[in-house]
Formats: sequence, C-alpha cells, structure tokens
Amino acid sequence: MNSEHVNDSAILTVTDLSRTFGGVKAVNNLSFSVSENNIHAIIGPNGAGKSTLFNLITGVITPNQGKIQLVNQDITSLRPDKIAEQGVSRTFQNIRLFPDMTVFETVLIGTYLLTGGKLLPAVFRTKHFRNKERQAKERIEEILKFVGLWGMRHEYAAKLSYGNQRRVEIARALATNPRLLLLDEPTAGMNQKETKELMQLFSEVNKQGITILIIAHDMHLVNTLSNQITVINFGEKLVEGPPEIIQSHPAVIEAYMGRAEVNA
Ligand code: ADP
Ligand code: MG
Repeated sequence: MNSEHVNDSAILTVTDLSRTFGGVKAVNNLSFSVSENNIHAIIGPNGAGKSTLFNLITGVITPNQGKIQLVNQDITSLRPDKIAEQGVSRTFQNIRLFPDMTVFETVLIGTYLLTGGKLLPAVFRTKHFRNKERQAKERIEEILKFVGLWGMRHEYAAKLSYGNQRRVEIARALATNPRLLLLDEPTAGMNQKETKELMQLFSEVNKQGITILIIAHDMHLVNTLSNQITVINFGEKLVEGPPEIIQSHPAVIEAYMGRAEVNA
C-alpha cells in the first residue's frame, strides 16, 4: 500500500507537506503515513530534510503547506507543548541535556506536562498537586528502571557516557506518555555495543505499544529494527516499503551511489 491510499491504521499522516528555508526546499510535497505500532524508519542523505520533517511534526517550525494528522486530529501548526500533550514525543539529533541536572531531575521535566504545569497549585502544594507529584515520581522510577538508569538517578545527566545520555533523553521523552516517539539519529556516534543495546531498548519501547518513527544512518539497524522504511531525498519521498524491498530498490541504490556513506 502506498501513501496515496488511505491508511486506516495510521497514527500519523503527513499530506503534501512543504517547508522552505530561503531558496532551499527542505521538505517538498511530502506525503506518507505511519501505521500504529510500527517501527518506521526515515532514511536519506545528509540534508535530505529528515530533521526538518521532525521539527514540523513536533511543531518546532511551521510548514508553508500541507497537513499533519495524529490519527484523525489535525495537529498542523499546533504549539509544540500541545502536540506533546497529544502524545508525540521526541529526541534530538544532538543530545540536549542541561548541565546541572541529575538524571532524575531531567526526566522530571518530562512529567511536568502530566502535573499540569500550573504555578499556583505548586506554590500552595494543594492535595491534588501533591498527588500528581507523587504519581510523577513513581512514573519516573518506573521509566528509569525500564531504560536501565535507576542506579544513576543522582548523577549529572550530562556527565554520563554518550549511550547513557541518550537513554536519559529517551526516558525524558517517555515521561510524557507518548503514543508516537520520534528518534532523530539516536545511535549516531555510538559504539557497536551501545548501538546494539539501544536497538534492544527501542524494540522494548515498541512492545509497550509505542509507535516509533526513527531517523537512522545505520542500515543494519534500519533493516533489522524497522518494518517500514521511507526514503527521502531533496525533501521528497523517493520510495517506501518494507526493508527487504528498500534494500534492493534501484532508486535507493542510485541515490546512494558515489556517496561515502548512507547517512540517514
Ligand atoms: P537532514 O536532517 O536530512 O540531514 P535537515 O532537515 O537538517 O536535513 O536539512 C534540510 C535542509 O534544510 C538543509 O539544506 C539545511 O541546511 C536546511 N535547513 C534546515 N533547518 C534550517 C534552518 N533552521 N534554517 C535554514 N536552513 C535550514
Ligand atoms: Mg538531521
């Protein structure tokens, strides 16, 4: 099935999405959909528009044209916090952690949404607020145990190994209870062991019923982890399908010919 057909099981549907920067068509008339519970990979050369696509989906930037739907809800141009509230969460291509926060504090920020984020209840510490706060802390414990960081909860997040910093980011993203998790090159710069362990984690996250949309440059990772791949180039969709089709697709091979690496 291609994206021109209606995808009944889609959690995310992107239609005719475009965004330019000056003269650059970073995302150009892009349409695709992500089926619920899939691990869907986005690959394409450097500068293909992959991170821009994530910025559009999460509301960090607004499109010039097109529509983004979460199940049946139009989330195009909603504010990032509103989109997060609807169940879309992400990690960044370059890890973004505050230098003086512990692992626990960093993930607590992720649950800020769940506690309502209102100032007055926090100041007066209403019973409702205290209940919410306790629930948030229990949830963080659960998440930190799940990602394997509970033992490091008091350490400064930014001082951890690169692989563990990525886990902190993933934990923070999970703390908002996402239905859809966007991962932008989560294993770039990781060693083989870290990559393997993160792949295992993504698979476990997915088994919890969270749909994953992942930008990845490691073809082995993409082929083993994902069940659907969308290849983009110059902001446009080149081809789409399951890994076994994509690997041997002439257009994909051609797009990557002569490039030093397949960089998604
Ligand atoms: P990818 O993630 O696939 O490597 P990006 O989405 O980061 O690609 O970039 C796509 C194109 O858009 C590139 O030409 C890049 O320089 C440009 N671009 C991305 N973000 C901005 C921005 N904020 N301002 C100007 N140009 C941008
Ligand atoms: Mg990028």
